Amino acid sequence: MSKTRIQGPVRLTAISHLYAIAIGSNRPHGRYGRPAGIVQAAIARLDAEFGLFDASSIVLNAAYGAAGRDFANAVALVESDLDPIAMLRRLKGLERDFGRRSSRRWGPRVLDLDIALWSGGGFRSRRLAIPHPQLERRSFVLQPLAAIAPNWRVRGGLTARHLAHRLARRAPRG
Ligand code: ADP
Ligand code: MG
Repeated sequence: MSKTRIQGPVRLTAISHLYAIAIGSNRPHGRYGRPAGIVQAAIARLDAEFGLFDASSIVLNAAYGAAGRDFANAVALVESDLDPIAMLRRLKGLERDFGRRSSRRWGPRVLDLDIALWSGGGFRSRRLAIPHPQLERRSFVLQPLAAIAPNWRVRGGLTARHLAHRLARRAPRG
């Protein structure tokens, strides 16, 4: 029997959110090879696990901090009804699947998956802050983000495109 008329309010059982996931790698992986191959495999994995809405191209960036080796980076937009804490847990699981062991900040890592933004706006807990606290300073996130979601308002009404341009003017080499 098909319903032809909706009577009364419609209850949504699952609310879908959009997440911008910042992907980074600067260590080779036995199966996926160089960092760019790992980022590509991570995008495929996000597509399999969630709905992949869009993904930027993969960019290569010079090493920073204690990392020592060059990075491959990208941003993916995924759709999910997970809340931010559950999403972080899933991403940490994916990092482990790709063999990430070190939890040293800025250190070499096979795969880093950070939540840059979500469609719910701001989120803050002891273990998680969205927008990502370093977002405005990271051209390796802002540039790919601006390429696929230029009009996403990040913070204080400023769009990804605006922030990417602003950072590029301040630090042309990222
Ligand atoms: P990095 O800062 O280099 O990404 P980690 O991946 O080891 O370092 O992250 C350290 C911790 O940062 C995570 O375990 C997580 O609890 C916390 N964190 C806070 N905000 C975020 C976010 N937006 N996305 C991912 N991790 C976050
Ligand atoms: Mg991280």
